[in-house]
Amino acid sequence: MTYSVMPIGHVRSCFKEKFAIPRQPALASAARGCLELLAPYDRAEAIEGLEGVSHVWLLFMFHQALESQPRLKVRPPRLGGNRSIGVFATRATHRPNGIGQSVVRLERAEPGKLWLSGIDLLDGTPVIDIKPYVPYADHVPGAINRLADAPPALVAVGWSEPALQQAHQHAHRLGEPLVELIEQCLAQDPRPAYQVPPPERHYGVRLWDVEVRWHYPTVDTIRVLEVVAQA
Ligand code: SAM
Repeated sequence: MTYSVMPIGHVRSCFKEKFAIPRQPALASAARGCLELLAPYDRAEAIEGLEGVSHVWLLFMFHQALESQPRLKVRPPRLGGNRSIGVFATRATHRPNGIGQSVVRLERAEPGKLWLSGIDLLDGTPVIDIKPYVPYADHVPGAINRLADAPPALVAVGWSEPALQQAHQHAHRLGEPLVELIEQCLAQDPRPAYQVPPPERHYGVRLWDVEVRWHYPTVDTIRVLEVVAQA
């Protein structure tokens, strides 16, 4: 028996590539986007009642990580990328049916559009359902996950003077909290755990329509070098 699902909308996100997206929602409150709903869910009836809801669960497709072969074990980045564990003990993107779930803040809703923050979703992500967060049921005091018992440790993020100025200018142009977005995402140290980069190695990622470049002057600090409009 097979079942088919259809997207009810797509996320327009600040994240234009997978690199440097936080590994879970709520880790970067400045990560914002808009869920554009498809017909017939773009009608006002579909969102009636959401004005009383601060957070929603999104069920979505990991559309850039779909695979035809089942994987029983995966190597989660948070375990350093060299220890493999059962796929069902992880929130890895490579999984049966490619379905992800994220609880995100609902900033504003209008027919056809939900404005979201704290997202961990790539631009273009197809969403297959939305459910309201239910605090009494979804918050589980005393819950245990020994493999993921705390958010990832943060690294210190500093700026070159020109990069900070560039970031403020682009933030103003975009009307987005770009400085905070860069700081929150880079603080989670996007480099693969096994990489100890030399200071001369530069990294880059696209957020909104700008390219952010940084390096590691020391093993656990980041310095943003430039924030430039993408060519
Ligand atoms: N919160 C979700 C969950 O638990 O199902 C996602 C967790 S997954 C570890 C988060 C990563 O998924 C992000 O760091 C990003 O690189 C990746 N990602 C986000 N949207 C994606 C998409 N549409 N396709 C493939 N990978 C995606």
